[in-house]
Amino acid sequence: MVQDFTLHTHTIEFDGKYSAAEMIAAARHAGFHTIGISNHFIVHPDVHRTKMYGAAVAGGYQSMYSSNFDEVLEKFKPHYEDLSRLQAQNPDIRILRGMEVDYFPSTQWRDGFARSYEILKPDYLIGAAHFVEYGGTICNVHDMAMVDAKTRDEMLKIYWENVSRLGNVGLFNWLAHLDLPRKLGLGVSKKWADIHEDTVVSIANSRTPVEINTSGFRFDSTQPYPCNEIQKMLAAYHVPVLLSDDAHNVGQIGSKFDVAATILRENGIKNTLSLQKVLDFREKRL
Ligand SMILES: [Zn+2]
Ligand SMILES: [Zn+2]
Repeated sequence: MVQDFTLHTHTIEFDGKYSAAEMIAAARHAGFHTIGISNHFIVHPDVHRTKMYGAAVAGGYQSMYSSNFDEVLEKFKPHYEDLSRLQAQNPDIRILRGMEVDYFPSTQWRDGFARSYEILKPDYLIGAAHFVEYGGTICNVHDMAMVDAKTRDEMLKIYWENVSRLGNVGLFNWLAHLDLPRKLGLGVSKKWADIHEDTVVSIANSRTPVEINTSGFRFDSTQPYPCNEIQKMLAAYHVPVLLSDDAHNVGQIGSKFDVAATILRENGIKNTLSLQKVLDFREKRL
């Protein structure tokens, strides 16, 4: 087994398709000794006024978005209690309480996040940039796909600045799906190479690990997130990595970890992290 733990997973209370109990059973069946559940922690005061919120309501996954911290706490408290109860019932597998966090650079966000962290005491935090703040609102990659080329390039620049910032804020155990806009074919041309390298250098300086996320294979059968070129940069700057499946259903647990492990070796990545190193990483930074 190339990695015997899986830490980036989602459940039905947020935007996953299965309960935590079902995801845990699937992880056990796949041979993992540890599963972490990492639902979205997304809090922004304007979130209900964005374009993507309508799509979320239509798709029935709007509960992943919160407009204030009391709202997100009301979702995470019972969810984490459920995970603790499941841990007591399933002593043969380790169950960790994570979150995939969108960072927003305001004092309000920082204070709200610190308060939430104290109450929820998550085991680990994944840093993610799903949004850019643009034109007085927040936009996601689907919004980026629907604007003119010039606006899109401006958004993509902001996107990569946000990714660098995720490393620099020092909150996260690791960073999620670095080149997320590739999901919609955005930002893939050669002209982005310098920005990719600047971002990787910044992440390397912040000493934050990065995931090799096999959900990338769901739209590109040849490479996960991030793409081969960025993986080679991660190798050149010795950025530590771990494998993630970003599972939203039971069939995606541990999906293509073996393929990803081969690809990252081909791209020269040698610095892969043990579970303990992933979990310890953040403690050192607090
Ligand atoms: Zn994500
Ligand atoms: Zn995710």
